[in-house]
Amino acid sequence: MKHIYRNQKKLKRQKRRLSHRSADYNLLSYFSDTILFEYDCDSNILIFTSNITKRFHSKGNRAFQILNPQEPMEMIHPDDAVLLRKLLKEAKAMPTGQIHSVNLRFVDKNGSYCWMLCQIQLLEKEQGKARKIVGKLSDIQEQRLKEQRLIEKASIDSMTGILNRKAVDHQIADRLVSAKNGFLFMIDIDNFKALNDTLGHAAGDEALIHFTSEIKNNFRSEDLIGRVGGDEFIVFMTDTDSEQAARHKAEQLLSRIAKWEKAALSASIGIACYPKDGSTYEELYEAADAAMYQVKQQGKNGYCL
Ligand code: GH3
Ligand code: MG
Repeated sequence: MKHIYRNQKKLKRQKRRLSHRSADYNLLSYFSDTILFEYDCDSNILIFTSNITKRFHSKGNRAFQILNPQEPMEMIHPDDAVLLRKLLKEAKAMPTGQIHSVNLRFVDKNGSYCWMLCQIQLLEKEQGKARKIVGKLSDIQEQRLKEQRLIEKASIDSMTGILNRKAVDHQIADRLVSAKNGFLFMIDIDNFKALNDTLGHAAGDEALIHFTSEIKNNFRSEDLIGRVGGDEFIVFMTDTDSEQAARHKAEQLLSRIAKWEKAALSASIGIACYPKDGSTYEELYEAADAAMYQVKQQGKNGYCL
């Protein structure tokens, strides 16, 4: 009991000492949005400049004994707190002066996550042993959002708002790695050229937008939907091995689109079962495409599994 009490007192003293030492940094942080920190390698105490309490959910606390599991850093996403601890641990073995960085999510005052770039460098070594690490946090939330928007923009088909060919190919191939089973639907609108020719290209576009919304309503939000050609769509229905469910989805979609009042609308649907009909995306794609072609051959407006 006594030694725990002594250790706690020692820690408190170290925190106080570090806190005094970081007074200089605090002065600097007064003029900047950048948050600085210092890490004492002996005591494992991490102390931030006072501006951290203004931005993040820190309950006024800015000094942390980071190896102490009783002292969680509530202002950092739990996964990222692990990354920060790991980085600081590894940094002790780094040569002085080298900068290392990691992106971390901090919880702001409203409870939303904000991406921060965390850069650190080992400042002092004494007889080969690390003593002090300094670091800074810079706000990269805007930059991350911009990157995110650019990625989304590049992945989306501008007319229908669903994934384009490249993005859906990628995402389905990725999904197959973790999915145990599922169904790949290849869907092509019937006689779409004729619709364009008789009602005009603008009506054709409207039909594509309506068709997309019916596909979206027909499947679950976690299923992957993309436009892979002019009037050709693909859906990966995840985590089911029920052929009955797949057939039901196809029938439901055909009946939904037949109800459109502006023009006669039907489609040919080819369905491939994963992993029965193919274990890779290419194999499944070919199987679904062949099934779809069969429906076209047999008079369209139907599905084939
Ligand atoms: P099938 O029944 O065999 O599927 O024949 P189809 O008439 O539907 O013709 P097909 O699927 O071979 O070709 C699709 C047509 O869709 C070709 C093109 O004129 C038209 N199309 C492609 N992209 C667009 C688009 O963005 N808007 C419009 N309005 N039409 C498009
Ligand atoms: Mg077509």
